[in-house]
Amino acid sequence: MDWTPGGLSSDVEDRRGDSGGGGGGFGFGGGGGGGLGIVGVVVLVVVSLVTGHNYIGSYLSGGGQSAPQPRQSQYDDQGSRSGAPVQESAAESRSAQLVSFTLGKAQAYWQQTLSGEGVQYRRAKLVLYRGSTYSGCGTARSSTGPFYCPADEKIYMDLGFWDELAKFGGGTAEFAQAYVVAHELGHHIQNLLGTEQKVRRLEQQDPDERNHVSVEVELQADCFAGMWAKSGEAQGFIHPDDIQGGLKAAAAVGDDHLQKMERGTVNPDTFTHGSSAQREKWFTRGLQGGTIDSCNTFGAGPDL
Ligand SMILES: [Zn+2]
Repeated sequence: MDWTPGGLSSDVEDRRGDSGGGGGGFGFGGGGGGGLGIVGVVVLVVVSLVTGHNYIGSYLSGGGQSAPQPRQSQYDDQGSRSGAPVQESAAESRSAQLVSFTLGKAQAYWQQTLSGEGVQYRRAKLVLYRGSTYSGCGTARSSTGPFYCPADEKIYMDLGFWDELAKFGGGTAEFAQAYVVAHELGHHIQNLLGTEQKVRRLEQQDPDERNHVSVEVELQADCFAGMWAKSGEAQGFIHPDDIQGGLKAAAAVGDDHLQKMERGTVNPDTFTHGSSAQREKWFTRGLQGGTIDSCNTFGAGPDL
């Protein structure tokens, strides 16, 4: 990816300097937080596949020289001040600026795309935090991973994992991070398009279909990320090898892959995000189709 760190835009709400009850962020070493958690595993898998280095292996084996240190809780004594100065490593700073860059590009893309559909764009905000913070959807915790909250139209993201991973280097890992931002913004687009309300209706009509509806929602967000990647490629800041990495990232976070890693077995009825093949397929749909219509997971039938 071609990009130059350019600070944080006004769309980024930086709460990393708040104490927020974070309790020292999220260390890989597990320190009280209950280990790596599924999000950490996902990130390690994504980055392992994208970069071709086996970070999962080095994490599980205790890592030798590649074992990262848990983050320091140097923020606990600063009190609850919004906008308090942020102490950050160079890697975390770069990571925050990449998130800001991606968000800016993706919002510009969607502003233009939605205006073509007669839909007025509202800018989403992205909250950077450490440990935990409040959101319109309840408490955000780093262990739940990045998410979009439709109630306040904000994406919540703790950079802890990316910060640790950035120490390993690897420029292609950056696209995996951009992909996550683009996917989360995809949920904002769904909110603006009224998909959010439609989904709630579908779930009420047939609670047994809840997981299937969730898969449709998530695959559409992957498809929207693909649409954005296509525009980025056309503008020249996303390269074909980034796209390849994005496909691997999409496959790595497939429910079948994650379930196999977690418990050794796969149960498609419990999928909430879609299989590896489905996630790759819908990312590609967005990439090739490049239109909202090409991302209609809701009209794709039971197989998706
Ligand atoms: Zn999602």
